[in-house]
Amino acid sequence: YKNNIIRTQSNLLLKEKNNELEIAKEKAERASNARSEFLSTVSHELRTPLNAINGIAHLLLEENPKKAQMDYLNSLKFSGDYLTKFINEILEINKIDSNKVEIEYINFNLKQLLEDIQNSLKELATVNNNTFNLEIDSSIPDYLIGDPTKLSQIIMNLINNALKFTKNGNVSVIVKLHSLEAKNATLYFEVIDTGIGIPADKLQSVFDSFSQGSIEINRKYGGTGLGLTIVKKLIKILGGRINLKSVVGKGSTFSFKLQFKLGSQLVNLDEKPKT
Ligand code: ADP
Repeated sequence: YKNNIIRTQSNLLLKEKNNELEIAKEKAERASNARSEFLSTVSHELRTPLNAINGIAHLLLEENPKKAQMDYLNSLKFSGDYLTKFINEILEINKIDSNKVEIEYINFNLKQLLEDIQNSLKELATVNNNTFNLEIDSSIPDYLIGDPTKLSQIIMNLINNALKFTKNGNVSVIVKLHSLEAKNATLYFEVIDTGIGIPADKLQSVFDSFSQGSIEINRKYGGTGLGLTIVKKLIKILGGRINLKSVVGKGSTFSFKLQFKLGSQLVNLDEKPKT
């Protein structure tokens, strides 16, 4: 009888604790939703007038301004671009953190995607006098099913950093076939540079929001400190994990492994059959 009373009492206590936990969880969720909504509203509200400022700076620059005016306008454009990038990245992180980003499965040609990225970054490579090369394992199937938009965002971000922190050097993107099964292919991606490198004590923290190598690096190279945070989160969404190896003064290697379903050659319905 005594034991029964104790059992009932402890059950009641447990129920109460569970209820309290539920309420606390709901409260935290509501607070997090409110925070995310606030961030999203503020960012969108900032973006609209900023677009106008950027647009006008751009237009005025095309009007052949005098040298002094051109310097002011370029500085305005630089700050405007930086703020736009910053706001877009905050919006993106907010979207990811509130689980609003989903994988969009599309049949795509990996080689084509990487070559498009290579072409779009050709000019940027010349800024710091870098060479840029792309190596794709020939045994990788041409067509895969995955999220090409997120994949290019990840790779573009890593290459942009690699080109930014490397001078008179080389940046390579290497894609190897890790394993091939009946329906899946697992690929190993590497973005390698011969740039300034990252100190051992910063290898983890560079992926944290607003983290930058050092005040000097920030002053010299600019940047928001959000790019790698987004890269890490996107790779996680796609089912992978980012790795970083780096030696100061020698360069850095960012790598990750992702699995794709095997795709099929896209059929062009407009194409007339050959006779
Ligand atoms: P940022 O926009 O400031 O470049 P990131 O999140 O992309 O922000 O990178 C964070 C920091 O990590 C950078 O400020 C830099 O110190 C370091 N970093 C990133 N990529 C490289 C690289 N390829 N080589 C050297 N340092 C890098």
